[in-house]
Amino acid sequence: MSMEKMTLRFRPYDLKMKHTFTIAGSSRTMTPAVLTEIEYDGIVGYGEASMPPYLGETTESVQSFLRKVNLDQFSSPFLIEDILSYVDRIDINNTAAKAAVDIALHDLVGKLIGQPWFRLWGLNPDDAPMTSYTIGMDTPEIVRKKTLEAPYEILKVKLGSESDKELIRTIRTVSDKPVCVDANQGWTDRNQALDMIFWLQEQGVVFIEQPMSKNNIDDIAWLTQHSPLPVIADESVQRLSDLIHLKGAFSGINIKLMKCTGMREAWKMINMARAIDMKVMLGCMTETSCAISAASQLSPAADWADLDGNVLIANDCFQGMRVENGKIKLPEAPGIGVLKC
Ligand code: MG
Repeated sequence: MSMEKMTLRFRPYDLKMKHTFTIAGSSRTMTPAVLTEIEYDGIVGYGEASMPPYLGETTESVQSFLRKVNLDQFSSPFLIEDILSYVDRIDINNTAAKAAVDIALHDLVGKLIGQPWFRLWGLNPDDAPMTSYTIGMDTPEIVRKKTLEAPYEILKVKLGSESDKELIRTIRTVSDKPVCVDANQGWTDRNQALDMIFWLQEQGVVFIEQPMSKNNIDDIAWLTQHSPLPVIADESVQRLSDLIHLKGAFSGINIKLMKCTGMREAWKMINMARAIDMKVMLGCMTETSCAISAASQLSPAADWADLDGNVLIANDCFQGMRVENGKIKLPEAPGIGVLKC
């Protein structure tokens, strides 16, 4: 084993959105990110933290967390469990900052072994699912335009306002692609929510993500029991330890690397979800192809993927996961499979 040490580097990088992005409660044109690198023995692994405002992390908080990370104490990058358990103990929360270390370390180790992670996990790349393309709330003209421009075969819409039905009807005037619905905790009455879900089923909707507030788990459990469509947890689930409490209350979970601290914990969550008979969706934040490609390594083990964060930005600085005919195409390159542009 070489006497080399691992070196962690990081720098802020603002992600510029192609379109103003609107979900229930907020609207934005830029998402702050921090790009990371871990170098060992001349090999560089790439990582990323992406911080949409609702996560509570900022460029400053992520950098201040990363300054505390001391990788000198580890003799080898292959000690993934030791290293990432240590990183997790440095402070509570900071999940995006932790993911930035986790992704760079996985990229590095995959490169040292010479294999992509889907292969190290034994996953079949042919099992990678279709991915969806998100249409934000907007005027009917823009919704029609974005729907027609959607590069993928499954659409995802953010509902949770007065004009939910109008948005779906607008999409249906120009497209009959399957639609995934994310209510972003926007519905408040369970009976109305159930009526809405039955209506959405008739409109060709595939599943409902986070229909009601994460604080309203009893109503969500009732909804899941009566719903003709799968009900998926997003805001209600962050990390592995949340999962056991959701059994029975949701049909499945939306795993995002920035919420769960990265690839190591995401893989554990997928395995636990399967063990308690829950569906798995892989989601993302607005991210470059770095974090998207990292998530895509897990995608053959997921039922659904919503990995379009990279196509929503104008200044992607990585090449990696591609989408062919709407289906995720995993890169053969080792690690997380990215090239820096
Ligand atoms: Mg969501």
